[in-house]
Amino acid sequence: MKVAFFGADGKAGSAIVRRLEAAGHEVRGIELGDEPAVEGCDAAVDFTTPEAVPGNVRAALDQGVSCIVGTTGWDPDELGAFAAQQGLRLFVAPNFSIGAVLMMRFAREAAAHMPRAEIIELHNEAKKDAPSGTARATADLIGGSTAIHSVRLPGLVAHQEVIFGSEGQLLTIRHDTTGRESFADGVLLALEKLPELPPGLTFGLETLIS
Ligand code: NAP
Repeated sequence: MKVAFFGADGKAGSAIVRRLEAAGHEVRGIELGDEPAVEGCDAAVDFTTPEAVPGNVRAALDQGVSCIVGTTGWDPDELGAFAAQQGLRLFVAPNFSIGAVLMMRFAREAAAHMPRAEIIELHNEAKKDAPSGTARATADLIGGSTAIHSVRLPGLVAHQEVIFGSEGQLLTIRHDTTGRESFADGVLLALEKLPELPPGLTFGLETLIS
């Protein structure tokens, strides 16, 4: 596929682009200050900033191109409605790593039996938003008022623990992202499934994994 990639030179973007190209996709990188020209592309992918992503997605949808977004810390509802009006797709996932999605799934299962839980999410100090989109999505899945603790330190990539506690026992479900290449698995899957999705917003990688 021909893929326009907003933020191709970023930390996540550069690791993902390498794997998209290795898988045979043709990638057009678009950086800050470039024209958001995506016409002729089969999809646009965005891993930029919460401030940049709405403009990039709007520009892509205006040019008739469906979008896959990994950028966190923004609200995609309005642009999802716009995509639906245009008959286009907007796929947004707070975490494109398959292991993290399984962690969320297992946490939901555990919460049915152990409802008291807290989340610790740990990311590199450069991450701009806190709590992380993955932690908020996990808390929504678990339900109730799950506390989230955010850690930002050098040396970390992206990690999360969901700790369940009940009388006399603890259960910890933990996922560690050790390399940003892991996010490419989900982006490759989203590119494959994008044409089959209904128009409008689809949220979360779990919707693509049976
Ligand atoms: P980063 O290294 O700062 O990369 C962001 C890139 O976007 C930079 O190259 C930046 O360029 C570029 N950029 C900024 N504004 C732009 C614009 N208007 N058009 C095109 N490019 C623009 O950050 P990162 O760690 O890669 O993370 C990027 C985003 O992805 C964050 O929101 C992060 O939370 C999210 N993320 C999500 C997942 C997931 O699985 N969903 C995984 C990893 C990261 P300059 O450096 O020139 O500003």
